[in-house]
Amino acid sequence: MSSLFQLECPSCRHAHGDGTTIFCDDCFTPLEVAYDLPRVREEMTRSVIESRPLDIWRYRELLPVPADAQTELPVGFTPLLAAPSLGRQLGSQHLLLKNDSACFPTLSFKDRVVAVALAAARSFGFTVVGCASTGNLANAVAAQAARLGLEAWILVPRDLEPAKLLATAVYGAKLVRVEGNYDQVNRLCAEIAERHRWGFVNVNLRAYYAEGSKTVAFEIAEQLGWRLPDNVVVPMAGGAQISRIAKGFRELVALGLVADHPVRLFGAQAAGCSPIAAAAQQGRSEIVPEQPRTLCHSLAIGDPADGYRALRVMRDSGGSAESATDDEIIQGMRLLAETEGIFGETAAGVTVAGAAKLLAQGRIAPQQTTVLCVTGNGLKTTDALAGRLSLGPTVRPRIAEFEALLEEQAVAV
Ligand SMILES: *Cc1c(COP(=O)(O)O)cnc(C)c1O
Ligand SMILES: [Zn+2]
Repeated sequence: MSSLFQLECPSCRHAHGDGTTIFCDDCFTPLEVAYDLPRVREEMTRSVIESRPLDIWRYRELLPVPADAQTELPVGFTPLLAAPSLGRQLGSQHLLLKNDSACFPTLSFKDRVVAVALAAARSFGFTVVGCASTGNLANAVAAQAARLGLEAWILVPRDLEPAKLLATAVYGAKLVRVEGNYDQVNRLCAEIAERHRWGFVNVNLRAYYAEGSKTVAFEIAEQLGWRLPDNVVVPMAGGAQISRIAKGFRELVALGLVADHPVRLFGAQAAGCSPIAAAAQQGRSEIVPEQPRTLCHSLAIGDPADGYRALRVMRDSGGSAESATDDEIIQGMRLLAETEGIFGETAAGVTVAGAAKLLAQGRIAPQQTTVLCVTGNGLKTTDALAGRLSLGPTVRPRIAEFEALLEEQAVAV
């Protein structure tokens, strides 16, 4: 191959060039991107990476974009933060947060996958792009398509959070609300992609999209001083992120950019939609699709496209999965905010609640380095908290009323 990457069948290893083929002609396995690692190794050293701007494109030789792709959007390179207070609450002495609630431009980890998918879309000459989304993907496609001058068609389940609908429509994207759940939206998008020459980021561009998730792994390793952590806890929807984080760590080891070290991958899902976590907990290798019933819309995928990959990376790494009820999700969001000052979305509540159980059960050891992936911003899912927090008393603008209030509260304590 002349470029550094191509699509390859992970099952029969048949090469398929770089295009928008989804499945292997020979065995119908979904294709993945493979790299010419010896050549990448020559071009991408630690010092080359460190000399580049702080965004996902510093790892460009390990992303499926042409060498001349315009990659000017400063997506990613979000903070990796120590979380000592949350760690004390959960029983971890070395807890870190990968904070994609601050990802540019739309405050979720989906900005990473969309940046890569749209770079691929442009290289294939698509002028119309789209997605099936549970919310964050809609925001990211709409924003980045606007910036790149692409037309965007966004299909979502009708009952999405108002903030996520607004934060899609504002970019001038063509938003379509479908009376059905995400899996029905996704099937409709697959049919549209067959009829129209449109690039759907998570359908016919899915192999490229999924690769964007690896940048979380690259950044974690670099931010730890070119070291791998012991454990990573990742919220799962379609299962692309957790499986590609594992792929990212493997590629860094293969390139000699980090020393080999076992990283256990743990997945977290909402109890009301946990097809991957349930299969992992029951030791099954088949995913049984579910009808989502959870306030965590961003993870509400009942028939996950990368579910079997997610299962495999959890099993092979010695990790496992946990789920969280709606009440536990809210508690997780509040705990994260109160201890570390980070307002993550419902998916962050799932991750914190899942990590709490894994630590309590001793499946994650307290002294190990554990990274929790905070994948989206709480300002987009405020509805989940509506009616659950006191918004405070009201007073007239008089000092006497304020002092009375102080006294009342002192008595109450
Ligand atoms: C999409 C999404 C995920 C999960 O991503 P998958 O790759 O589909 O498993 C996690 N968190 C948030 C906030 C998301 O929007
Ligand atoms: Zn094959």
